Amino acid sequence: SQRSDDDLLAGLNPPQLEAVTYRGQALLIVAGAGSGKTSVLTRRIASLLRAREAWPSQILAITFTNKAAGEMRERVGQLVGEASRGMWISTFHSACVRILRREAQQFGFTSAFTIYDSGDSRALLKRLVKEHEADAFGLTPAAVQGRISKLKNELADAESYARQANMSDPAERIFVEIFGDYQRALQRANAFDFDDLIAQTVYLFRAFPQVADVYRRRFRHILVDEYQDTNHAQYALIHELTRPPVGATPEPYADSGMMIFEAPKHDAIGAEAVGAALTVVGDSDQSIYAFRGADIRNISEFERDFPGAKVVLLEQNYRSTQNILSAANAVIGHNFDRKDKKLWTDSGAGEKIVGFTGYSQHDEAQFVADEIEVLHKKDVPYSEMAVFYRTNSQSRALEEIFIRSAVPYKIMGGTKFYERAEIKDALAYLVAIANPVDEMAIRRILNKPKRGIGDVTETAIARYAEENEMSFRDALANPSAMGFGPKIQKALLHLDEVLVEASALMLPATGELAPPTAVAEGLTLLLNKSGYLDALRASRDPQDEARLENVDELVAVTREFARNNPEGTIIDFLTEVALVAAADDLDDTSGSVSLMTMHTAKGLEYDSVFLTGVEEDLIPHRISANEPGGPSEERRLFYVGVTRARKRLYLSLAMTRAQFGEVTVAMPSRFLQEIPAELIEWRQSPGDVNSRGGMQSRALNARKPGSWGGRRSENPPALAPRSTSLDKFPNRVPAKVRDNGEMELASGDRIRHDDFGEGHVDAVTGEGAKRVAHVRFEAVGAKKLLIKIAPIEKL
Ligand code: ATP
Ligand code: MG
Repeated sequence: SQRSDDDLLAGLNPPQLEAVTYRGQALLIVAGAGSGKTSVLTRRIASLLRAREAWPSQILAITFTNKAAGEMRERVGQLVGEASRGMWISTFHSACVRILRREAQQFGFTSAFTIYDSGDSRALLKRLVKEHEADAFGLTPAAVQGRISKLKNELADAESYARQANMSDPAERIFVEIFGDYQRALQRANAFDFDDLIAQTVYLFRAFPQVADVYRRRFRHILVDEYQDTNHAQYALIHELTRPPVGATPEPYADSGMMIFEAPKHDAIGAEAVGAALTVVGDSDQSIYAFRGADIRNISEFERDFPGAKVVLLEQNYRSTQNILSAANAVIGHNFDRKDKKLWTDSGAGEKIVGFTGYSQHDEAQFVADEIEVLHKKDVPYSEMAVFYRTNSQSRALEEIFIRSAVPYKIMGGTKFYERAEIKDALAYLVAIANPVDEMAIRRILNKPKRGIGDVTETAIARYAEENEMSFRDALANPSAMGFGPKIQKALLHLDEVLVEASALMLPATGELAPPTAVAEGLTLLLNKSGYLDALRASRDPQDEARLENVDELVAVTREFARNNPEGTIIDFLTEVALVAAADDLDDTSGSVSLMTMHTAKGLEYDSVFLTGVEEDLIPHRISANEPGGPSEERRLFYVGVTRARKRLYLSLAMTRAQFGEVTVAMPSRFLQEIPAELIEWRQSPGDVNSRGGMQSRALNARKPGSWGGRRSENPPALAPRSTSLDKFPNRVPAKVRDNGEMELASGDRIRHDDFGEGHVDAVTGEGAKRVAHVRFEAVGAKKLLIKIAPIEKL
């Protein structure tokens, strides 16, 4: 097959070639951003398949997001065609869900288990924190959730933690109790939280070696992308899978309908004795999940863990221009705890990085929107542009302006769709069918729509269930036994009937497979017959109209699911929803600009990238200041953002930022100072946009609380209280920011604003640097201005 491999190996540089064709047991590929790590992994899979080193079903490839998994599957498909079917290319979480669905009955769960997202486990913990009166000890649900998550990522359970905790500390004791109760509640509900998916799979493999053996025999090649972001539990999972099987007799197996007729070559040399071959790729400069327990040591200690491992270094970057790479190198070079490596390309310097400082975040957003239109006119497709920010809340200003400017956009990752109350309600109805012991789901729908069932009834059902050792679901079907009044009995019986009817549709008792359309039909039935939709339709709350649309959208998702998964069951559907909701988006983004956090951007690439909010306290983020290693991690995050761009990179910031109803004065990020000045061309003000008459009103409307125009001021800007650090940016700050010092303004005063003209002060609110003047301008109407820096003078 030498000739057919030519295309597979074409264009690879020597170390890449080595990484694709190496055939030993352990391979570590370390390299900077954009050097082809993911591409090499993809080609390596294709190469293994072509050389018949492995069958598709013997390959497990782990990516960081579902989107990345989809892309890799597609690329392998392009390289080897049909042969790519049957491979497991997925995230850690999806792979573990697959394993747990098959094996859950081994340890007291059923394959219909529910996956609790972060909101679900928060709700459960809220109840437990209340029961234990734990807030008196500073144990908020969020804090408890964070600690439990961290412990699970380190594979600690409630008992093992209790053994080494200081149990004479009452707060510790209560935490341990809550942790234990939480775990028992999950077990009772036949549910796993997100961290459990991985931790419990490790537990399963360790407790049931014969189960682990099935997977150890099965996977001959395990490949992991973004290895620098694996936490301890994920690391342990990989170790369990690469161990040689302990049992003696290999069993024949079949997977995904694909029978194995011919043993792969590997068998001849006795793969059972050595375990699966492991390939990992990573870049310690892109480790950005330490806060979730990711451990760079997984990379640095790989050679110790796998003696004899081959290490391949990739250095040439194929993604970005040299200007972008030089900026990236300069910034990451400020991290001291790293091996120095420099990205380089032979593709030329390219365009300069564009810098922009807006007066406010709206001003910044308007610049981004305008520039996107300019690029679009130059034939850059919207789908090749991305806007990044550090925190989700920053997207709001961008969205406002994008909607007004008719820029098509999609928010990637952290999609809030599945977090909406009405979507969670609808999904809870499905969970009530799929996993009736999930008490939380049933409690959620008990009074949705309103059926006159309150807390008292809910508690009575729970007590009855406990006393009679039955599930909450079974208890509610028997309301006469609990002595409720006729209205409540009727309501409960009706709910029970609806659930029974939908179950018959979605989970036929005869053992035959329900048609894939059953999920859509079942959901429609549940929402109609329960009265949920009628309640929304009858409501006069305008919000409920939007809710109705969202629920319709969910029904559309179930229909699409049926089209894509001809054998899909309700459980498959709920799995897909749970994993997608937590990780990334289902939607395809063709034809729109992608908006996302810098964390979500990992591994992706775009022709043009806008990094917004490049300010102190945002990137590096305020909370990182107190975390050990925090600022370094923020620098890596910034590095990830910068290295996503192929041709054009924009770095933008705002002088003032309104957040949580407060206007704060923002400072340029230290990372800007770390970039050599000659790499950045600063477009300080959008003056040319402003002076074009037609666009003026749009631009003005977009700018709050004030605006600054195109004229350049002679005065070097000074922005107390931290003006000194701004002075380091003589050519980097907007031209027309003022420091009005202690300008005394009072209602009744007249002022002149550089852009808005003359006006009359109605009121002054706030104090010190945050004093705001409420001004009625003759030309443009009412505006609020931050007195300290607005371009105004008193008349
Ligand atoms: P990241 O660290 O951001 O995940 P990466 O190391 O995984 O980056 P890839 O995404 O695999 O890098 O590759 C970056 C870009 O370079 C891709 O567009 C890829 O197609 C291209 N590329 C990789 N290797 C080569 C090569 N030998 N010749 C030409 N293009 C290449
Ligand atoms: Mg990659």
